[in-house]
Amino acid sequence: MAWTVQKLIDDHMTLHASCNACHHNRQLDLSVLRERLGPDAPAMAPDLIPRLRCDGCGGRDVSLTYSPNTMASGDIGASYRRAKDGR
Ligand SMILES: [Zn+2]
Repeated sequence: MAWTVQKLIDDHMTLHASCNACHHNRQLDLSVLRERLGPDAPAMAPDLIPRLRCDGCGGRDVSLTYSPNTMASGDIGASYRRAKDGR
């Protein structure tokens, strides 16, 4: 099944858009996307890229990177280290 905006949020994915022209990049706010497109809107790269525009240069040559949200695992890592060091 293709990803929807809501599924990306549920799965704690983060999306980064980067511009191929000026190398500007930013993290997309999925809650804003959900408001604009609706929770069931398809959210694969070919669905979203035509809707995106670079903040830096206004260009439309934008690529998307999907990655799991690293903040949650970072927290797990920190508490693991605390447990290990006994602090
Ligand atoms: Zn740009």
